[in-house]
Amino acid sequence: MKFWFVTGSQFLYGEDTIRQVEADSKEIVAGLKLPFPVEYKLTAKTNAEITQIVREANYDDECAGIITFCHTFSPSKMWINGLAMLQKPWLHFHTQYNETIPNEAIDMDYMNLHQSAHGDREHGFIGARMRMPRTVVAGYWKDPAVQAQIADWQRAAVGALFSKSLKVVRFGDNMREVAVTEGDKVETQIVMGWQVNTWAVGDLVKEMDKVTEAEIDTLVKEYESLYTIATDDMDSVRYQAREEIAIERILVREGAKAFSNTFQDLYGMKQLPGLASQHLMSKGYGFGAEGDWKTAAMTAIIKAMYPDGQTSFMEDYTYDYKHELILGSHMLEVCPSIAADRPRIEVHKLGIGGKEPPARLVFEGRAGTAKALSLIDAGGRLRLIAQDVTCEKPFQTMPNLPVARTMWRPQPSFLEGLKCWIIAGGAHHTVLSYNITDDVVRDFARIMGIELVCINADTTAVSLERDLMLGDIIYGR
Ligand code: MN
Repeated sequence: MKFWFVTGSQFLYGEDTIRQVEADSKEIVAGLKLPFPVEYKLTAKTNAEITQIVREANYDDECAGIITFCHTFSPSKMWINGLAMLQKPWLHFHTQYNETIPNEAIDMDYMNLHQSAHGDREHGFIGARMRMPRTVVAGYWKDPAVQAQIADWQRAAVGALFSKSLKVVRFGDNMREVAVTEGDKVETQIVMGWQVNTWAVGDLVKEMDKVTEAEIDTLVKEYESLYTIATDDMDSVRYQAREEIAIERILVREGAKAFSNTFQDLYGMKQLPGLASQHLMSKGYGFGAEGDWKTAAMTAIIKAMYPDGQTSFMEDYTYDYKHELILGSHMLEVCPSIAADRPRIEVHKLGIGGKEPPARLVFEGRAGTAKALSLIDAGGRLRLIAQDVTCEKPFQTMPNLPVARTMWRPQPSFLEGLKCWIIAGGAHHTVLSYNITDDVVRDFARIMGIELVCINADTTAVSLERDLMLGDIIYGR
């Protein structure tokens, strides 16, 4: 994926100035140290040039967004036709080639050339006038803090592009009677682009039957290289490998990057996929338990934003009021990318579902700041809830709870944080990400046009309720 850099100008200043603007723009692009590449495309001087470059950006599958900058004054009526048809995320980079005003060198030629303070205001006006969703980054282009803001926007734009073509494979339906994992798939496809469709568990079982012992040998060797085998029950481990190979084969065949299943529909399967789902998540696939396709998709999107990051499907389980901590875990399916140490493969009985004891990865999550994210269908609209949390090393060993687990304290404080989450309607399933920042969440929600509710150190239940009422006005109930 690439980002396009377009500089705004006009013919007023003469050819020498335009040449200088181009050279300076190329230098700025070369000086940006970002997670995804930026390519200088052109210095735009006419409506036709702008309209053409936007058309090309829209149709280029690799173009994840455009960055604009007006080195000189670029009259904004030239931009209206192009911006009106822009379908890619837009960042307005309000920067300037020079850091300071040179006392001796400044004259009227200099003023004509270095006037983004002037030209970018015209550019900002048209963005505001057209109500364009855009991210504005202001500051000197060599400043690492300024570049970090562009990097955040890039992550959000990559997530948005990924979202627009994301396919989610559902094995079975949602867990019976559960409300929060439901949602309007048609509306979600219109807004997020997700193609969410179901495949029969029987088809997965058929695919499992085709997996050979040699293929299982190879995957088990990979497990051994990554994890400590802490069980004698290799049959169970091999069964999970069989499940993983079959699931991935269907995902690859369908071009899907996320999947869900449910323990209530494992017809013909001996074990709920545990290790299988965990290892698939570590490879970048999104997963949602109990048919939770929304959390599956969001996990995949955040993994696409941070390919080497620490992101997992997660579930809030139980509280410790004294230590002010939430124990987060799941029956099985937590991604080993968030593990503090080398995970162990263990086999234990599962209390629900009535199947054989499944192999799973057991580990403790790492300490650090993170966000818990939940996308809910709020009725006629999607609401993304993002809560700042602080993960801590679990304060006790819990020897009889052989699952991957982590503990965290929500912001703004334990009890106020819990209250806010409940008021906002956040699910028991979340995506837990140690990487995603406030700016990435905000940029992503803005690009996708969805309601965003942030619960952080500044949130109170009172301010949150007001925000939710505003959301009802903006998006309709
Ligand atoms: Mn669950």
